[in-house]
Amino acid sequence: MTKISTQLSAVRQRIQAACLRAGRPAEAVTLLAVSKTFGADAVQEAFAAGQTAFGENYIQEAVEKITALRQLPIEWHCIGPIQSNKTRLVAGHFDWVHTVDRLKIAERLSEQRPADLVPLQVCIQVNVDGGPKKSGVVPADALALAQTVARLRRLRLRGIMCIPEPAPDFEAACAVFKMASDLFEDLNAQGLALDTLSMGMSADLEAAIASGSTMVRVGSAIFGARIRPA
Ligand SMILES: *Cc1c(COP(=O)(O)O)cnc(C)c1O
Repeated sequence: MTKISTQLSAVRQRIQAACLRAGRPAEAVTLLAVSKTFGADAVQEAFAAGQTAFGENYIQEAVEKITALRQLPIEWHCIGPIQSNKTRLVAGHFDWVHTVDRLKIAERLSEQRPADLVPLQVCIQVNVDGGPKKSGVVPADALALAQTVARLRRLRLRGIMCIPEPAPDFEAACAVFKMASDLFEDLNAQGLALDTLSMGMSADLEAAIASGSTMVRVGSAIFGARIRPA
């Protein structure tokens, strides 16, 4: 086994164990492998070990990998901030976007999604812990944005995503993730039919799964420490 395949199976075991402890079926949580800063060779290695969904933060870097690996049936998720001048690249190359945090970006993605592709799957990024400089819509504005995004023709609204600050311990992490899962339930109670709660990374996936995450985004625990900051 290669290092990536070994670490990938360790992460899968962590997910399974966390699901078991939470009384949730293991299939309730999807693993998104975050390959930012790593090359197409690393993605290929994880793909060979059975991983099919990959997350990328930097649009230009991602487009190069997506192009190089286009013969592989990989599902590509954009999990980085999106500037208006990058929406066309995102709409043309990715399957999912987790970081929709304002209407303008959603409208551009919908308008620019090529007609020969299925609708772009999107999550609304929510700033659950209220970091002043963070991306994400404040929870109070999430419903209005979600309802508008849900009506855009070339997008399919799947859920919400959050990136809370690292918490000091498991309980503190759960408390913040719980705010996201409460919001997720509220939105569904309003009729939105969301199925994706994207939260949890290498350090806190157990707390996220205990709190209802349906998709964890894991980078360093699979690919190793990143040299380039991210
Ligand atoms: C980098 C990144 C991850 C993965 O972080 P790790 O700590 O390496 O698992 C997950 N989500 C987002 C939005 C990221 O930018």
